[in-house]
Amino acid sequence: MTTNQRTFLVHLAWALTVDSQDRRINDAALVLDGDRIVAIGPTDEILARHPPGPEDAVVESRNRGLTPGFVDTHVHLSETLSRAVFPDNLATRAWVFHWAKPFYAHVDAEDERTSVLLGTAEMLRCGTTCFLDMGAQNDPGVTVIAAAEVGIRGITGRHAADNKPAEIPPGWSPEMVDHHFFPNADVALEVLEQCVRDWNGYADGRIRCWVNIEGKEPCTLELHVGARALAERLGVGTTYHIASNIEESQIAERRHGVWPVTRIADHDGLGKNLVLAHAVAVNDHDVSLIAQHGTSVAFCPSTSLKLAKGATAIGKYPEMLEAGVSVGVGTDGVSAAGNLNLMRQMYLVAGLFKDARLNADLVGARKALRMATIGGAKALGWDDEIGSLEPGKKADFVLF
Ligand SMILES: [Zn+2]
Repeated sequence: MTTNQRTFLVHLAWALTVDSQDRRINDAALVLDGDRIVAIGPTDEILARHPPGPEDAVVESRNRGLTPGFVDTHVHLSETLSRAVFPDNLATRAWVFHWAKPFYAHVDAEDERTSVLLGTAEMLRCGTTCFLDMGAQNDPGVTVIAAAEVGIRGITGRHAADNKPAEIPPGWSPEMVDHHFFPNADVALEVLEQCVRDWNGYADGRIRCWVNIEGKEPCTLELHVGARALAERLGVGTTYHIASNIEESQIAERRHGVWPVTRIADHDGLGKNLVLAHAVAVNDHDVSLIAQHGTSVAFCPSTSLKLAKGATAIGKYPEMLEAGVSVGVGTDGVSAAGNLNLMRQMYLVAGLFKDARLNADLVGARKALRMATIGGAKALGWDDEIGSLEPGKKADFVLF
């Protein structure tokens, strides 16, 4: 969208472009036309190259800093109303089976709309301008329309699972099981395909819809592999939880002889259009498979700390970055993480690995910012439009 009036932010104290040169520009200027960036650079240079006309708006921005908008690569917008409800001392499986699933089973469409409005408002307030949501518990249209109204950019879908536990956990009702699990992978994929056809590209492309599934034990191998293949056919992406804690990977090894990521790869399940959420319990072979297939990873540090997943004890995120994997940063749902604030996640990313490995040079602040901006945009396949401050890209930015 172009307009007759351009907006100039001039004399910004600093701007971090997060482009390929990873520039810090002091006394910077940003020129916008509608929702696109026209130019960014030192104020003197920009004003000489693009002299403002009488119709343009020039905004003095001294004492302000500028970064690209943050990209949250893993969130559950259906979870927002459960803030501070679950106990603080749960590990992943107890958290999922005894608290999250019963909660999700009781979220109706009206709850979900409120939850999305509240969650996306918190995200925007903390500088997040784009998200990858794991998907709605009900009609994804509710999430799509609510997020579009708020003005944020993002990707959602329909949260799907197809593999009931062999023994139904205490407290689960038959209605809850029916609500949560599709009868098989084929039925789930049919519903997910329709969601993409109905909602992908809503609000002039600002909201996208993917073939998202829950992943790990609540999903069959067929659904994991089928979701990515369907996404490829539809020209979209998919995301799911995998290797989210050591117990899950050990169970997979006992049952199938290999760790979860290797099992997916053995069945042609990895690819460029896949974002693996958590991927904390991985081995070196898994890391090389993820890199080799161009698959991306969403690292959620707050959740790792809260649910004792072991990001620093067993995680291989520095190795993934070294191997060229696009590793984005996610908040996860508000109950798992305690907040939807990507600034807090970046703070953790920029210190956890330095401390754990006694290496002050490992994954520092600038790297954390790249992961939360261009890294996330690449993971979401949206780096042609967002993730860095460059001419031609969308004007998604944070003004400090
Ligand atoms: Zn999650």
